Amino acid sequence: RALDAGLYSPLDPLAVLGADSLERRLFNSSSAWVMEFYASWCGHCIRFAPTWKQLARDIRDWRPAVMLGVLDCAERSNRKICTDFGVTGYPTLKFFKAFSKKPEDGLKLRRQGDDIKSLRESIITSLEKHEDMWPPSCPPLEPISAAELHDFFQTNSVTYLALIFEDENSFLGREVTLDMLQFENIAIRRVLQTNEELVKRFNVTSFPSGFLLVNNGSCSSIPVNADFRPFYRSFLQSLPNVFRGNSFRPTVPPTVEPKSTIVPWRVADRKKVYMADLESAILYTLRVEAARFRHLDKERLSVLKQYVNLLVKYFPGRPAVMNYLRNLDLWLKPMTNVSGNEWEEALGNNPELPHARLPENTLWVGCQGSKPEFRGFPCGLWTLFHLLTVQEALLSPYRSSPPEVLPAMRGYIKYFFGCRECAEHFEGMAAESMSRVKNKDGAILWLWSRHNRVNYRLQGAPSDDPKFPKIQWPPQDLCWSCQIIVNGKRMWDERAILRFFKAHFSRGNIYLDFIK
Ligand code: FAD
Repeated sequence: RALDAGLYSPLDPLAVLGADSLERRLFNSSSAWVMEFYASWCGHCIRFAPTWKQLARDIRDWRPAVMLGVLDCAERSNRKICTDFGVTGYPTLKFFKAFSKKPEDGLKLRRQGDDIKSLRESIITSLEKHEDMWPPSCPPLEPISAAELHDFFQTNSVTYLALIFEDENSFLGREVTLDMLQFENIAIRRVLQTNEELVKRFNVTSFPSGFLLVNNGSCSSIPVNADFRPFYRSFLQSLPNVFRGNSFRPTVPPTVEPKSTIVPWRVADRKKVYMADLESAILYTLRVEAARFRHLDKERLSVLKQYVNLLVKYFPGRPAVMNYLRNLDLWLKPMTNVSGNEWEEALGNNPELPHARLPENTLWVGCQGSKPEFRGFPCGLWTLFHLLTVQEALLSPYRSSPPEVLPAMRGYIKYFFGCRECAEHFEGMAAESMSRVKNKDGAILWLWSRHNRVNYRLQGAPSDDPKFPKIQWPPQDLCWSCQIIVNGKRMWDERAILRFFKAHFSRGNIYLDFIK
């Protein structure tokens, strides 16, 4: 039994948004927003989630100048809004300036890396791109000039002004300024090392260093010399009469209630292949992955045609599903340009054709995970492509001709697979050796061995379902003859692997369990 929750919970200090709240919260907001669009099944999103949560905790005091949000594009009700926001891969990080008006106003968050520091710095760089519409609650981030400093206490009713002297590339001053945003009676400004007048006046010799000016005219150096943001923060927050203001409530009220749907556990036998997984993978590729694009350009369309045609040729599906695929294949063939709306229309089940239909919902059986974010679609996709390599070898009259399935799979993964880092890894393996595969049996073995490489790399990764640990497959209880001992070393026997694959992924080993 799995509890249906996403990668984030409303208890994290970020806004968990959905199709009903995204535009309402983002558009015309006086805060800037940094959104992570993710898919809960995507391994890299699962790995990235702790970083995004940690970032949310790290910059929670930057609210309401900048707000962090997340939206799960795998959630059925959110799929259309993800397309509207131009999200074609996961995770996608977008920055929306304050008072943004439309999805296109969101810009990809440009960053050096995916660590907290790089993310924080890229948020500051994006914040600084606000020109006329500066977020009202965001303090100035630009360096203070000597002239501004001269009149500072006449024009600002605060007791303290902290100056952080630093070089141009340092983010310390701006970070501490944002860290102190919710605190009253104090302002923080950075002074650049290049400002000779102020550097000389304060006799600054090492950078960064800080000075505390009080409105009674006193000035002292801040007893922290290192580039250590937490020290600055705690020193400044503990000053007398500096207090957290109450104009902003630090906890964002949950916009999405935690879901508590209990998904019934479907007992599966790993010796079997389940039609429910295969059909669900097809459904997800066509109705979700390929439907994310506002427009299917020539290249994508050609990859899609190849993929659908392959299903028509080799997928051993139920008659209604095969009729559906054949109709789609016929519709696609003459097309040279397809809009997202046309594609969506072509994909719907036609009530006048009850004998040509694809299930409306995904149903994972052999690919069910112990939590909603585990397994599901990527598991179904591997299973589908393994099955297709085998079916091609069994059905094609030209056994020794080059395989069609592998290049089609490569195209699909490259152009449509939403987990972009997975797609890059796969493309790396394909570029390295796929061209050496000469026949259909070779294709079966290539995909088997590359999948095992991925399994090896992902062992113990956060996306690894503890109930279904990644193993070198097939295990001995599925195929005892697949591994042999040569000179005391355990090796794979490729002929046995081929025999096993042709039996395991045969039509006769596909079960209809749980399909109504
Ligand atoms: P999966 O690895 O999805 O396998 C599905 C089923 O296939 C297994 O249950 C088993 O029955 C069978 N199987 C296992 N190994 C083999 C094999 N060698 N040959 C034949 N059948 C096998 N996730 C990441 O985090 N990083 C990545 O870079 C990444 N790259 C991916 C690339 C592709 C092309 C795909 C489709 C997925 C990728 N994923 C990646 C997802 C990841 O590989 C798993 O699909 C996901 O973690 C779910 O794992 P699973 O336990 O359900 O088993």
